[in-house]
Formats: sequence, structure tokens, C-alpha cells
Amino acid sequence: MTKKSYILALDQGTTSTRAIVFDDTGSQIITYQKELKQIFPQSDWVEHDPEEIWEATVEVLRRTLSDCVDLGKKVDTIGITNQRETTVLWDKKTGDPVYNAIVWQDQRTSIACENLSNSDNEKFISKKTGLTISPYFSASKISWILDNVDGVRKNAEDGRLAFGTIDSFLLWRLTGGKAHLTDATNASRTLLFNIHNQKWDEDLLSFWRIPKVILPEVRDSSSFFGITKSGLFDSQIKINSMVGDQQAAAIGQACVRNGTIKATYGTGCFLLMNTGDKPIISNKGLLTTLAYRINGKPTYSVEGSIFSAGSTIQWLRDGLKLISSASETEELAKSLSSNKGIYLVPAFTGLGAPYWNSTVRGTIFGLTLETGPAEIARASLEAVTYQSYDIIKAMESDLGQPIQSLQIDGGMTDNDWFVQYLSNILNIKVARPRVLETTALGAAFLAGLGSGLYSKLEDIENLWKIDRPFCPNIDHTKRLKYLAGWKQAVQKLTMYKPDNM
Ligand code: ADP
Repeated sequence: MTKKSYILALDQGTTSTRAIVFDDTGSQIITYQKELKQIFPQSDWVEHDPEEIWEATVEVLRRTLSDCVDLGKKVDTIGITNQRETTVLWDKKTGDPVYNAIVWQDQRTSIACENLSNSDNEKFISKKTGLTISPYFSASKISWILDNVDGVRKNAEDGRLAFGTIDSFLLWRLTGGKAHLTDATNASRTLLFNIHNQKWDEDLLSFWRIPKVILPEVRDSSSFFGITKSGLFDSQIKINSMVGDQQAAAIGQACVRNGTIKATYGTGCFLLMNTGDKPIISNKGLLTTLAYRINGKPTYSVEGSIFSAGSTIQWLRDGLKLISSASETEELAKSLSSNKGIYLVPAFTGLGAPYWNSTVRGTIFGLTLETGPAEIARASLEAVTYQSYDIIKAMESDLGQPIQSLQIDGGMTDNDWFVQYLSNILNIKVARPRVLETTALGAAFLAGLGSGLYSKLEDIENLWKIDRPFCPNIDHTKRLKYLAGWKQAVQKLTMYKPDNM
């Protein structure tokens, strides 16, 4: 890369499509974003229109590229990062999707998954994929399209259709149908990929009744994926990385050594710990997944997901109307010297890791006539820290050693009170980086690695710059009291089984 050139990251997320240009020091230069419509055809169903995703992609890429021309700079390479698991099937001849994209949050296959999830099947799936049988991953979504859209199964078996997560679909379109590829991180979220031998797995394919011919070829996360088709942009640009969004964020947070962890606090929260070249199968309800694959060498991670993090704050704002903006929670929480024994368990859609309980629902314990918005806001922020604690403890147990620090990002980490309390509860240093667009930065870095701008993965450590560290400053007994209160609240919650659910 010459001094005048830049890297472009395309971040195709659940709620928006973003193009972000970085220079070679990892500084963010230009950003364009387009919101994405959420389609809810029925309760528990969530879809995206793949054409809308494609149009937004072209628009944000064209705008950023044109700004680069105005600045006299050249984009050398593109990296793609994407919402994971979301499933598209399209016609190889026309490029037309046969159905909308079924989004990772979609639960339409929950009964089908429940019917499959006996202990033998769970063992078989977990051993090969590191995951659990769940509608969250791609396989049951593909099966649903094959079984429910007219003519699709036959066309798929005859090799006329292609499957991909959003990375593959966009690559296909960007290269004018020349490349049908994905990367190992995205493949590892399908329930069809054997994370040990790094291959699509015949047994898994027959378990889910999916023909192999529709699958993309799996490449390293940083490698040459193709070149944009002629006429799409002013010049043709190489695509040198594809990587799932949470894995990209971990790279953008410089989690490239064994034992390093990042947590992204957005709508939900995802914690990923790099476990090096060995897949650690969790005994504590965490997922085992690919962190990245570079030069043919897989690096693994364990992952814990919290379903409701920032969404609890959104609920305070839009549902309860207790606050008018998310940032108000900081002042409210600060105004109290303790939580007054109030615990909110935000199990709005059940509890994720390490509990994996989809039938429980949220509650608030300890209400008195004195309870007001400040107490509820504080309890909401606290809940995210306690859930993080549960996951960190599970990770420590899987890793067999204590965790020393955590890198954080996402919308909630704007809230200093939240971040300080997180450090207090976890009892470790929590570091917030200067570039909060860690997902895009990770994809850009991998593209730069693929294009030869960076020479090794560890170079990302030089690009990562801290905004501010937060260290624990809480009385030990107080901390234990808070944790005991949370534990009790979760235990009580799991005993409550209303019969109208
Ligand atoms: P996503 O990428 O999932 O859309 P973001 O990383 O953009 O999420 O974060 C948005 C979430 O963070 C929202 O759910 C919002 O409620 C929450 N949030 C934003 N600012 C704050 C704040 N200052 N305090 C607490 N929560 C916040």
C-alpha cells in the first residue's frame, strides 16, 4: 500500500450496512451507513430483504470510494464483515434469492430443533461443530427454505442454487457471480462445518438433509476472495478478507493471543476468548467456535452470549418510558450509593450463556414504594455486569486459569458508570479502546494482512490504542454481597414457571 491508499471495511450488520475507510494506522477516515429494514412476517420470524442489503452495500461503497477520490486517496483492498448465521439461498444463474434472508434471531425452526435435540444428537453436534442444536445457527434455516419454498429442494439438489451467509452472498454479487466462497469463521456458525478438520461434514449434511452442492468453498479469513466486477465501481478492487462480525471485533480489539478476551455491549453482548490452536469444548455452556483462520491455521475461541444488554436500556426508554435517552442511565445510576437490594433479571427472551434457558422470562426483585427510575436504571446496568461475570467465571473454569483483563466496545461502553461497575464486579481491569468501530477495524486489518500491508497478525496490537482503563475500586464485602444478590435472583427466577407461556 502506498502512502496515499486506504483500506475499506464493509460491515453488514443486523440493523445497518456500513462502509468505513481506515488508513494504515487504523484511524477512521470516512463512514457511510444505511439502516436496514427488519421484516417480521409472523411472531418469532425475522427476515431481511437481500436486495435491500445489496443496494445499501453498493450505495455505501460508492459514496466512500467517491470521497476517497475527492481526498486524492486510493482504496487498495476491501474487507467484509457480516452479521453471522443469517441465511440466503440464491439462483446461480440469475443471482436472485429464492427467499428473504432468514436472520439469526429468527425462531421459526425452534420446534424442529427441539425435536432433534436429544442427548445423543447434542453430543454428536457439539463434538463436530462446538455448537448446540439451536435455531440461532444456519442449518435449520437452510432446511426450512428447502422444505417450504416451492421447487427449491429439487433445484438445490440439481446444483442450480447457492447457499451463503451474508458474506458469501455479497461476495457473489460484488464479483459478478465469479466467487462462491466463505471464510472459516462464518462456516463455523452454520452447524455444517467440522471445526477440527476444517471441512464441510457429510454426517452433519445428512443430519440436516442439506445437499453439499449448494455450499461455498471455505477459505482463510484473510486471503484473496475475488475482485469487484468491472463497471461496478470506478476501478476494480480486491477483496482480501471475510470474517464474522464478533470475530472481527475480537481482532479489532487485538485479541490475538491465547487467553485474551473482548466483550461487545450492543443490543446483546458477546464475549469471545481466544484459546489459541486448541478448541476447548466448554463444560459450562459456552460455544466453541473459530476465532480466525490464517495461512491455513485455525485459531479457536470460546464464546458466551447475553441476549439482552443494551436492549434492556432500550426497553426503559421505549417500553417503560422511564428515560428519554440511553445515556440518562449514567446520571441516574450515579445518583444512588447502593442498589437498595433491587435486582432486575433481563430474561426478556430467556437467558443465554451459561444458563441456556429459553423458557424463563424477566423479573425485578426487591421493589418498594421508594423504588423509582434511578433504581430501575441502575438495576438494568448492573444486570449486564452480573451476566458478564457469569460468563467470565465459565471461561475461567474452561481455561483453568484466572482472567486478568477484558477489552470492551459497543454502545453501552459510552457509559462510564457502567464500565466502572463492570470492572468492580469482574474484579479485573477493563479497557476501552479509542476506535470503538472494532468490527470494521478487524475486517480492515485482515484485508490489509491479505493485501500485504501488514506482515503478521500481531501488527494489530500496534494499531489498538486505549482510550481509558477502568480498575476495580469497590469494597470486597460489598462486591460479594451484590454477587450473592444476583445469584439468588437468577435461582428464584428459574423456579418460576408460569403455565401460560
Ligand atoms: P448494535 O450494534 O447492537 O445496534 P450498538 O453497539 O450501536 O448496538 O449499541 C446500542 C445499544 O447500546 C442500545 O441498545 C442502547 O440502548 C445502548 N446504549 C447506548 N448508549 C448507552 C449509554 N450511554 N448507556 C447505556 N446504554 C447505552
